[in-house]
Amino acid sequence: MSLEPWRTGKVIKIEQQTDDTRSFFIQVPALEILNFKPGQFVTLDLPIHEKPNKRWRSYSIASCPDDSNIFELIIVLDKNGIGTPYLFDEVFVGTEFRFRGPQGVFSLKEPIDKDLVLICTGTGIAPFRSMLHYIKNNNVAHKNIYLIFGCRTKASLLYFEEMTRLQQEIPGFNYIPTLSRELWDGQTGYVHPVYELLCIDKTPASFYLCGWRGMIDEARKRITEMGYDKKDIHFEIYG
Ligand SMILES: Cc1cc2nc3c(=O)[nH]c(=O)nc-3n(C[C@H](O)[C@H](O)[C@H](O)COP(=O)(O)OP(=O)(O)OC[C@H]3O[C@@H](n4cnc5c(N)ncnc54)[C@H](O)[C@@H]3O)c2cc1C
Repeated sequence: MSLEPWRTGKVIKIEQQTDDTRSFFIQVPALEILNFKPGQFVTLDLPIHEKPNKRWRSYSIASCPDDSNIFELIIVLDKNGIGTPYLFDEVFVGTEFRFRGPQGVFSLKEPIDKDLVLICTGTGIAPFRSMLHYIKNNNVAHKNIYLIFGCRTKASLLYFEEMTRLQQEIPGFNYIPTLSRELWDGQTGYVHPVYELLCIDKTPASFYLCGWRGMIDEARKRITEMGYDKKDIHFEIYG
C-alpha cells in the first residue's frame, strides 16, 4: 500500500467535548473529497521539534467518509506530552499544518458475517464512531453490534447522546457505556467482564479493540483464553 503524500490541513472548527477532550475539524483545500475507510488514521506533523519523526502524532479519524474534504479528530490532552499541549494551546480556527493519510488497516472486514464486539476506552471510540455511521449511512448488512465504551465518569462519556440515538437507529446495535469510577444506572467497572459475559456462549464474533496498550493487551489475552481465534481480534494501539 503506497503512502499518501503530505498535504496541508486547515482547522475550520474546534469543539470542547469534555474537560480534557476536543474535536478538531480539518479541511483539506487541495482535495475535493478525502477518501478513507472508517477506522483509518492520519498523522499530523506538528511544529514541536526539529526532527521530523519527533513531530509526528497519529489520530484516528472520528468522522465518517461523506464525500467532503473535511475530517474530524477527537483528541485528549496529555499535560505531560508535547503534541497535545501544542494542539490545545496553540491551534485555533485557521491554523494550518501538514498531515499524511489516510493510513492504517484497522477497518471493518466486510462482509460482516459475525457479531461485532467493539471495545474501547477514551478517545479510542473515534474509529468506532466512524464505522457505526458508515454502517448506518450505507445500510451495511450486519449481525449484532456491541460497543463497549469504558471511561471513568459520566462526564467523560464522549458522544453519549449520539451513541444513544444510534442505538435506536441501527438495528441490532447495543451501546454499553461502562464507568470505572462512578456509580450510575448503567454498567460499572472495567470493560473486560462485560464482553466476557456477553460472549460466554462463544457466539461467533469479530472483536475490534482500540485505545491504550494496557486495555488492549489484557483484552487480547482474555479473548483468546475464551477460545476465540487470534484472527477474530483486530486492534489499534494508541500508545
Ligand atoms: C494509530 C494511532 C491513532 C491514535 N488516535 C488517537 C486519537 O484518535 N485520539 C487521541 O487522543 N490519541 C490518539 N492517539 C495517540 C496520539 O498519537 C498521541 O500519542 C497522544 O495524543 C499523546 O501525544 P503527546 O504529543 O501529547 O504526548 P507525547 O509527547 O508523545 O508524550 C506521551 C507521554 O510520554 C511522556 N513524555 C513525553 N516526553 C517526555 C520527556 N521528554 N520526558 C519524559 N517523559 C516524556 C509523557 O509522560 C507523556 O505523557 C493515536 C495513536 C496512534 C498510534
